[in-house]
Amino acid sequence: MTEEPPVPRVFVQTWGCQMNDSDTGKMLALLAKDGFVPTDLPDEADLLLVNTCAVRAKPEHKLFSFLGRAALLKRTADRPILLAVAGCIAQRDGARLLAEHPEVDLVFGPDAIPRVRELVEQARLRRVIDLRRTDDPSIAFVPDLVSRGGVSALVTIQKGCDNHCTYCAVPLARGAETSRASSAILSEVRALVERGARDITLLGQNVDSYGRKRAGEISFAGLLREVAAVPGLLRLRFMTSHPRDLSADVVDCYAKLEKLGAHLHLPVQSGSDRILRRMGRGVTRERYLTLVKSLREARTGISLTTDFIVGFPGETEQDFEDSLALLEEVRFDASFSFVFSPRPKTPAQVLHLREAVPASVAAKRLGRLQALQLEISRASQAAFVGREVEVLVDGTSRQDALELSGRTSCFRTVNFQGTQDMMGRLVRVRIDTAGINSLHGLPAA
Ligand code: SAM
Ligand code: SF4
Repeated sequence: MTEEPPVPRVFVQTWGCQMNDSDTGKMLALLAKDGFVPTDLPDEADLLLVNTCAVRAKPEHKLFSFLGRAALLKRTADRPILLAVAGCIAQRDGARLLAEHPEVDLVFGPDAIPRVRELVEQARLRRVIDLRRTDDPSIAFVPDLVSRGGVSALVTIQKGCDNHCTYCAVPLARGAETSRASSAILSEVRALVERGARDITLLGQNVDSYGRKRAGEISFAGLLREVAAVPGLLRLRFMTSHPRDLSADVVDCYAKLEKLGAHLHLPVQSGSDRILRRMGRGVTRERYLTLVKSLREARTGISLTTDFIVGFPGETEQDFEDSLALLEEVRFDASFSFVFSPRPKTPAQVLHLREAVPASVAAKRLGRLQALQLEISRASQAAFVGREVEVLVDGTSRQDALELSGRTSCFRTVNFQGTQDMMGRLVRVRIDTAGINSLHGLPAA
């Protein structure tokens, strides 16, 4: 009797943005072709894969403590274990990582993801580094199709970024902006919808500049119109937008495209013109507020969310008050807020050396901003109680596995008691209670 070969297992640790989540999905799908099965337990893995993030210092620290634990595991295991580092830190510091961490077998950047299977094979024989970049859209994009089968799916439309926000590590790590051909995006959306996807999120670092560098390509608004026209698709979203590049044509899509979710994540970063200039954002506070007004005119009840950075070098108490006032004025439904983190080789790192905001001051400001946001978010959630909303059902509740879960057009999570046949459909739900992260209700009679 011949013994079955053991199933190889892969443990993945992902830090960072939705782009990294999407990349991890693609890598797992590609590795599955070689029999790799994901495991939640590093101890039983044959391949430890870390997908890293360079946007702030915290995920970098996490990488080094992970490498320490992985080294111990490799020394004590009774079988060979491969350790691979992918993502933005790998791209930026790959050679140094390999030189200073003998436990690392493979280092590769985001553009090498399509080659992950051969890289893992090579790493069984020797240490491998692959930081090659490609601007060829036919190579740069692994179809998201390989990794998804659910109601909600991400579709990458663009990689890299041509902006130079002075604090940001993304352009250094992910390279210049490259847009994927709209024909490839559309055929992937159609295929996903055929497999049951109903809610598509188009993904890029600055989606509003989609297609501008591709001769003859449609604009981002044109892409939204074409994707929205795909039969069977119920909802369409996108992220991330940049307020400088958000066009009147895209704003108009909120008025005209019913399938476009009534939500926009539009990072503002600061409410102070002085700081916005230092950040190189290319918009003023007034311009941002004008955009907010036109979005609200285009789609009544549109939900707006944003990102803030506090403690940017040279930020005064008044600059910070301007951010608080902007939050009060716009009343974002939610925001992500971060203390400024100096990133190697960025202009803001140089500013930080001269004009750093003390860590204790920055932490206090972050606390104040988050407390105000919490108050606004609570009120915004509470306003749904007693209302009937349309929910696209896409899974089960995280709190109660017997309940269904879905999103409103304005991107609120709603949990309710329903039946499995509602999965992937639009269901009307009457909201009875509101928590900070989700709403709860009953199917409307
Ligand atoms: N391309 C998107 C954009 O323009 O908003 C996303 C960029 S980044 C992955 C997501 C958020 O991280 C940014 O909007 C910003 O608020 C925050 N961020 C980026 N660099 C940072 C830094 N050096 N320190 C603190 N927060 C940072
Ligand atoms: Fe970074 Fe600015 Fe590009 Fe966003 S738009 S990825 S913040 S450089």
